[in-house]
Amino acid sequence: MPNYIDLHIHTSFSDGRQTPERVVDDALKLGLKLIAITDHDSIGGFRPAVAHAGDKGLEVITGIELSAAREDEDIHMLGYLFRDDDAPLLEMIEKFRQIRVERCKKMVVKLNELGMVTDFDEVLEKAGKATIGRPHLAEVMLEKKFVGSYNDAFRQYLFVGGPVYVPKAKLTPSEAIDLIHQAGGVAVLAHPAVTNRDELIAELKMAGLDGIEIFHPTHKKAARKKYREIGLQNGLFFTGGSDSHNRKGRYGDVGDQKVPLEYYQTMKIAWEKRREEK
Ligand code: AMP
Ligand code: ZN
Ligand code: FE
Ligand code: FE
Repeated sequence: MPNYIDLHIHTSFSDGRQTPERVVDDALKLGLKLIAITDHDSIGGFRPAVAHAGDKGLEVITGIELSAAREDEDIHMLGYLFRDDDAPLLEMIEKFRQIRVERCKKMVVKLNELGMVTDFDEVLEKAGKATIGRPHLAEVMLEKKFVGSYNDAFRQYLFVGGPVYVPKAKLTPSEAIDLIHQAGGVAVLAHPAVTNRDELIAELKMAGLDGIEIFHPTHKKAARKKYREIGLQNGLFFTGGSDSHNRKGRYGDVGDQKVPLEYYQTMKIAWEKRREEK
């Protein structure tokens, strides 16, 4: 059997509904060789996953999915193989956490103005250890029966520009790349078909982009082929993953994308090269 990996997984440290331990158990069951937990603006899932994997034969590497944006366009930047105790990275994560809390308070005010009486503490409790955001607001709204489903909360109120939406502060893509590099990692453009701004890829390469995500639940065969070609043209390595959230309607399960272990080996070579250049 070929060896597979999963380089894009969310947990309860952001908007996933699975603990890092559960992710590790699933990966072990499937016989995956390596995983990266890539929570939004958080690396809280890394150490619990490493601890749980122990010496059971599953390698866990550091990962993150940074929220970046150019003008109004969201660009998700994946980082891998960085030091998980890097001070500037941890400071940035903490700064963004605080900004997210303030933003969430503003969204709760909007919710109350619309007659959906909610206390910020209810949302805070929902978020638990996670990077607090719209998913937790949506969960509270569902629980209080303001909406019929989690996705309806987004469709009716929380969508970008919607009645309860408040924009969030984001890094520029180039800042995200620099942050990952200075922490010793490599930067990968997440799900380029979702971002759908192919003309930016060459520019991101100039800013230091190292890799591009090829395997993703939203990428059909044609998209995989297209981004493979764009990646080759720009000297980028390839990655992929399930983007699993264990949340209905939000992509698949851990291991769903059949990403060969060779992708990690290519990434590791690029990572080593970057390290030698320093
Ligand atoms: P935030 O970072 O607070 O703006 O929330 C972004 C998160 O909300 C994403 O990572 C998704 O998990 C979730 N999300 C965004 N748009 C939708 C949508 N239309 N339906 C369901 N979930 C969504
Ligand atoms: Zn997510
Ligand atoms: Fe993403
Ligand atoms: Fe993701």
